[in-house]
Amino acid sequence: MNIPLKGKSEEAVMELLGSMKGSDSSWEDGRMFGHAFFAGETARRLVERAYTLYLWENALDPTLFQSLLRLENEVVDMARTHLGGDWQAVGSFTSGGTESIMLAVKAARDMAREKRPKVSAPEMVVPLTAHAAFHKAAHYLGLKVKTADVDPDTYKTRPDAIREAITENTVLLVASAPSYAHGVVDPVPEIGAIAQDQGIPLHVDACMGGFLLPFWRRLGARVTEFDFSVPGVTSISMDFHKYAFAAKGASVVLYRNKNLRRHQIFACSGWTGYTVINPTIQSSRSGGPLAATWAMLNFLGEEGYLRLSGELMQATAKVVKGVNEIAGLKVLGEPEFCILGVAAEGADVFEVVDEMKSRGWHVQAQFGRGHCPANFHLTILPPNLGVIDEMLSDLAHSVEAAREKEPDQAMEKLLAALSSNDIDLASIDMDELIKAAGIEGDELPERMAGINRIMNSLPPEMADALFTLFFNEVNRAREV
Ligand SMILES: *Cc1c(COP(=O)(O)O)cnc(C)c1O
Repeated sequence: MNIPLKGKSEEAVMELLGSMKGSDSSWEDGRMFGHAFFAGETARRLVERAYTLYLWENALDPTLFQSLLRLENEVVDMARTHLGGDWQAVGSFTSGGTESIMLAVKAARDMAREKRPKVSAPEMVVPLTAHAAFHKAAHYLGLKVKTADVDPDTYKTRPDAIREAITENTVLLVASAPSYAHGVVDPVPEIGAIAQDQGIPLHVDACMGGFLLPFWRRLGARVTEFDFSVPGVTSISMDFHKYAFAAKGASVVLYRNKNLRRHQIFACSGWTGYTVINPTIQSSRSGGPLAATWAMLNFLGEEGYLRLSGELMQATAKVVKGVNEIAGLKVLGEPEFCILGVAAEGADVFEVVDEMKSRGWHVQAQFGRGHCPANFHLTILPPNLGVIDEMLSDLAHSVEAAREKEPDQAMEKLLAALSSNDIDLASIDMDELIKAAGIEGDELPERMAGINRIMNSLPPEMADALFTLFFNEVNRAREV
């Protein structure tokens, strides 16, 4: 495609955009469980106004836009006090959980470089249930990941498994509060004790639910301790663009003190342009996400977040009860937050996901790994609150329909071929594979169960290699 020769009118451009957007899955009707963290129409208006007020300002240079420095300091400080940090705790506003995690991993790696010269090849110990962002950070930053398995009943990582995975090269331990897949909080106090005992930093990933968990506790929920009040916790990531309901591009990484944070910062004056001093990965960055976050924290306040927490808590209890009452379905572990995984027995769980999709619901497939069976994920959000009964009823029908489903022969053959030992990835005809998967142009197939079954049964490294090849194929122009 070429850049159009002649420009179009503002109206014409917006009309084109609008019609493209029309083919997206809708979330405002509450039929999507995840992805759009939305706290209602008034909050939307406010976020949009605050975001656009700062759309053009550049947080690259806070000496020019001093209000951005002030906004960042206030937002980080609210996060600090919210998560039990004392006056020595510091932090940075980032673009998202992945960036917060990358920075925490970098800081730990570089502190070890300085303080522990004997570390030859840095490693981190990460629960099997920790977010993929830790694997991504390791991939980008040249660390090795050691995974620690979880308890097969609670899906919380076992402190023993963490301790066993530590070597003289370990520069960071990780725990989740809560884990994305199952919504449970790892035993942070026990892991913190190990971290202190071994003199290794501990990062707590509170990206998903960490912001609301203190409110859940205040409402009487039993929430495992996970913040800076736990000895041994040295850094925490927490997203505002999830359950703080700010616009996307908003997260924070916090450190117990500035000694560790120092290793996060990059400075460069050895080139011919302006001096670069970047605490974060992004350099030029819009003031929009920061302003929207500040606006939401001030708009909802503790009272607003408590109210939403109460509603989400109630809805979660209802979903857990309702799901467990459907024959063949089971909520995994005991979720401590409004995110959870559901396994199926007697029906293929990936078919259940497709059946839900054909009824207009979006729930997410999760692969089985280690002691965690394949399941589907629900992230319960304010737009879902009004449609829980309808969802549960369609879920029961979806399980029925999935039971009846015959496996797709073409996919089963592909699965058998891929599962035969030592298949050479280079020998796979990607065009054929893409066709077999039912993908045409930028149209994805309606049903994903076959693909999910294949990827679920392959070793993760093989599935990742295939996904990589696959994206490299799909995401490109075609020869004409
Ligand atoms: C979403 C999430 C992340 C990654 O955050 P992004 O904002 O998507 O980059 C990390 N950890 C957990 C637990 C998450 O839920």
